[in-house]
Amino acid sequence: MHSSNLETLSQTDLAAIDRATRWGTSFVAERAETWELERRFAKEGFESAGQHQLTGLLVPEIDGGEAISKLGLARVLEEIAATDFAIAFSLVCHNNLAGSVARNATGDLRSEVLPGLVTGSSLGAFLLTEPAVGSDAASISVTAVRDGDEWTLNGEKSWVTNGTHADVLSVYVQTDETLGHRGIATFLINANTPGISRTPAYELIGGHGLGANGINFEDCRVSGESLFLPPGEGFKAAMEGIDLARVLVSAMCCGMLRTALSTASSYVRNREAFGARLADLQGVRFKLADVATNLEASRLLTYQAVQSLEDGRDASVEAAHAKKFSTRVTESGIASCMQVMGANGAKRDHPLPRHLAASRLTHYVDGATEIQDVVISRSLLD
Ligand SMILES: Cc1cc2nc3c(=O)[nH]c(=O)nc-3n(C[C@H](O)[C@H](O)[C@H](O)COP(=O)(O)OP(=O)(O)OC[C@H]3O[C@@H](n4cnc5c(N)ncnc54)[C@H](O)[C@@H]3O)c2cc1C
Repeated sequence: MHSSNLETLSQTDLAAIDRATRWGTSFVAERAETWELERRFAKEGFESAGQHQLTGLLVPEIDGGEAISKLGLARVLEEIAATDFAIAFSLVCHNNLAGSVARNATGDLRSEVLPGLVTGSSLGAFLLTEPAVGSDAASISVTAVRDGDEWTLNGEKSWVTNGTHADVLSVYVQTDETLGHRGIATFLINANTPGISRTPAYELIGGHGLGANGINFEDCRVSGESLFLPPGEGFKAAMEGIDLARVLVSAMCCGMLRTALSTASSYVRNREAFGARLADLQGVRFKLADVATNLEASRLLTYQAVQSLEDGRDASVEAAHAKKFSTRVTESGIASCMQVMGANGAKRDHPLPRHLAASRLTHYVDGATEIQDVVISRSLLD
């Protein structure tokens, strides 16, 4: 990381990064492979994150949180993802929701929901995507119809990170399809409300620790107080957070790629072939040199974009460049690192196979790679 970036980190940021690093390299490192092999949500991981004050990172101190900077959050997530992407992504979804509740919720809704999210006694989830609607988020079709003081929700959400165990659901709904994205509102709902059912966790290429599933709403009646962001505000809020979300994915990629590079570097220093260390073969050296260049470039793009967001500048294009580049070079870079380790690269006694699978998922979350190209090409050509 650039020293100019480091200098802007506060004591609170540095303390959170230190906690995350120690937690990642101990608690998470000892369990991440088990969560993956057992294909289950990292429940005890989330509970432990709460005990390590990693669940209210974007919530002001007055509400019991940490209020770290965006730069600090990126560094926290880089450190956790260096050990496990799934739990890092689970935590970022939760923290983003807690931060949004702290910024936007008022009255009873705020006092009912916020304290549990901050301490981690309740787990949050963000429900935008639907089985038939992903990239074109303005076209969502889960409906909310007003009936006196209450609303009735119907429809199906998909790809809900934390969905298998979430307690608080932030649900994006269409209140009036003639209004398009201006009809989209957001409800904060207790996941045990009658009319809500969950599918089992998805069987994925990897990343099972983040507990992705589908959640259905069938004549689910909720009170008017559950209306978190009124029609017109819901879609705006979802889009406002997207640049930071993309940069944070990029930071998590830097963490995984860093681990791949250090794992492969230490392996090739210790293994011999044809009378020399693998580390002395130029083909091996240059492969790892390429990974190192891409890691350096990813970090520069990531932290430049975070700094722009921190400074309040429009960073849509910077965030798109960072996410597109980092996700691409992370997947190919992890594969290169596994290649120089020979067949041992494919064994699960180190984290690279888990990181390789997770790196595939990073191409879809918070906007597919092609959506980043839409943003970049628009800025070039329109
Ligand atoms: C692990 C994981 C966790 C997730 N967690 C959440 C969550 O917590 N909450 C949530 O709401 N969603 C979540 N998502 C969903 C994610 O946001 C969507 O996958 C993403 O928005 C893309 O939508 P889609 O997969 O339906 O792809 P589609 O929209 O069906 O697109 C398919 C492909 O078409 C191409 N494409 C689409 N549009 C364009 C275009 N305009 N120009 C060029 N090419 C295009 C791209 O190649 C894209 O990959 C998660 C996804 C994953 C994989």
